[in-house]
Amino acid sequence: MSILVLPSVTTNLYNSSNSYTHSKAKTNNDQNICRDTDIISLLQQNRKNLKHVESIHGRAIKKGTEQDPFVVFELVRLYCKLNSIDHATKLFHSTHNPNVYLYTSLIDGFVSFGSYSAAIGLYGQMGHNNVLPDSYVVTSVLKACVFQRALRCGREVHGQVLKSGLGLDRSVALKLIELYGKCDEVEDARKVFDRIPERDVVARTVMMASYFDHGMVEEAIEVFNGLKTQDTVCWTAMIDGLVRNGELNRGLEMFREMQVKGVEPNEVTFVCVLSACSQLGALELGRWIHMYMHKCNVKFNQIVVGALINMYSRCGDIDEAQLLFDDMKVKDVSSYNSMICGLALHGMSIEAIELFREMLKQGISPNSITFVGVLNACSHGGLVELGFEIFQSMETLHGIKPHIEHHGCMVDILGRVGRLEEAYNFIERMGAQHVDDKMLCALLSSCKIHRNSEVGEQVAKRLSECSKMDSGSYIMLSNFYASLGRWNFAAEFREKMEKGGILKEPGCSSIEVNNVIHEFLSGDLKHHERRSIYQKLEELNYLTKLEGYSPATEVTLHDIDDKQKELALAVHSERLAISYGLISTEPHTTLRVVKNLRICDDCHAMIKLIAKITSRKIVVRDRNRFHHFENGHCSCKDYW
Ligand code: ZN
Ligand code: ZN
Repeated sequence: MSILVLPSVTTNLYNSSNSYTHSKAKTNNDQNICRDTDIISLLQQNRKNLKHVESIHGRAIKKGTEQDPFVVFELVRLYCKLNSIDHATKLFHSTHNPNVYLYTSLIDGFVSFGSYSAAIGLYGQMGHNNVLPDSYVVTSVLKACVFQRALRCGREVHGQVLKSGLGLDRSVALKLIELYGKCDEVEDARKVFDRIPERDVVARTVMMASYFDHGMVEEAIEVFNGLKTQDTVCWTAMIDGLVRNGELNRGLEMFREMQVKGVEPNEVTFVCVLSACSQLGALELGRWIHMYMHKCNVKFNQIVVGALINMYSRCGDIDEAQLLFDDMKVKDVSSYNSMICGLALHGMSIEAIELFREMLKQGISPNSITFVGVLNACSHGGLVELGFEIFQSMETLHGIKPHIEHHGCMVDILGRVGRLEEAYNFIERMGAQHVDDKMLCALLSSCKIHRNSEVGEQVAKRLSECSKMDSGSYIMLSNFYASLGRWNFAAEFREKMEKGGILKEPGCSSIEVNNVIHEFLSGDLKHHERRSIYQKLEELNYLTKLEGYSPATEVTLHDIDDKQKELALAVHSERLAISYGLISTEPHTTLRVVKNLRICDDCHAMIKLIAKITSRKIVVRDRNRFHHFENGHCSCKDYW
């Protein structure tokens, strides 16, 4: 094994044949050449123990070889590796005329220590001391620039490289692509990419990642397709990029194609694919992938099992998630988070809180995500006092400053149980930077449910003053005023939304039947079985009316007549998905539907009755939580 990290550097340590090395740097290297092999081999043998390294360092000082460039290099490198960056820095500064390799090893040390500014500063010093850079040190400092998003500095280094005649070394080019991509300069990234003579799989993967980070899906695919053979990493980057950009079905298609091409997926690939399944609610596919993972000899580490727990809980099978969790030998904070959030999502508040307590007992420190899960659990369970207690403990006991999501949970907790004035006062007490439109929307929805127009109007006023309202806020405001019968206001917000060119996010529900995901938009006529679907829906409308269902016409927006409102409601996407589920599965099969928006009051009331009439369990995941419908009831107890 080589003594040095960079084998090619070893030969250059004394011999400055390296064409980039400035003559001054050369004289630095030519001085006092004596390689203390004893010390170096001692360091080699004791490289894992800081105390030993220190005492060998002392020995070198006694022998007078502490300025031997080989010894210094090895010592700086080991001190950095052993997290003793102070020792490394001190030694570096006591060295006469440090050469480019010594700079590289300390810059690397700073980078792995997270001291990016120090790394960049040291690189600057190198120039002052007339030590010319080589591509190793440039790559190292660019790493720091990437982490620090230091675009200006990166550009300077880039310019310097071009001027110095260093040539665009491959690893330098890759770092530049990454840097420009991370700093939103995708075009510049592309320019560097186009100048690399060999645009191999690594270069393409880096370029693809930049495109995906900026939502440029088609450009990324073009780069991917430019390769003759793609390896696991490249395929995984592709799938990950698609999933991150919400192209879930395309991500899954890519995964299938990868299998057809015989490329073995790894743990990261599976984590991406499982994330697609959980977002789609594709339980059958998720189960199949879980089985397939066993065949691929996947290492079931915490991250992989965490992804499985997420998938099962977000796809509606909380029992399987619980089994996997219980089987885990080593659980970390993210394992607990997955399970706590899963339980909260299913409205299993008590279980979520018990698990949180168990986690504390095990000595595992919660983080900010844990509290989002626990507070959500309190909210879904109507546990106001406990919620406050936990919220207060965040800072006092655990040293975690509440974020906007945590404040949102508190507003939700109060809103759900009808303590609307308190909720409003809570918002008033927070600084403006802690209030967002999502929080106000949730409170407005509570005001609507509890029919409190006084607080509602105050909230509505604040919401309408929000700077960046999305379609959800406009619709919420419009619905709120419509529910008060104030149609003028309702129409006004609707108009504002249309004039502002804000598109309404279309309601979309999906259901998985025989491993295929069927997606429905509201009023969708595209499905090949649309005739039978609408027939079923009509039958359900008739049967549920016999059971006492009457469409809550206030939830639609316009001041149109009741019959029309009823029609507009009747085709909400979840109803189409459920109708399709009923005609395409065996009796008593549980139906699982995923909806992208919050389920409306009217659909909620109707699905309760459909579950009763058809003796089916119907599980609907909407934007906020799961609803388990069975025999005329819902697990959310009509709070959502
Ligand atoms: Zn609906
Ligand atoms: Zn419900």
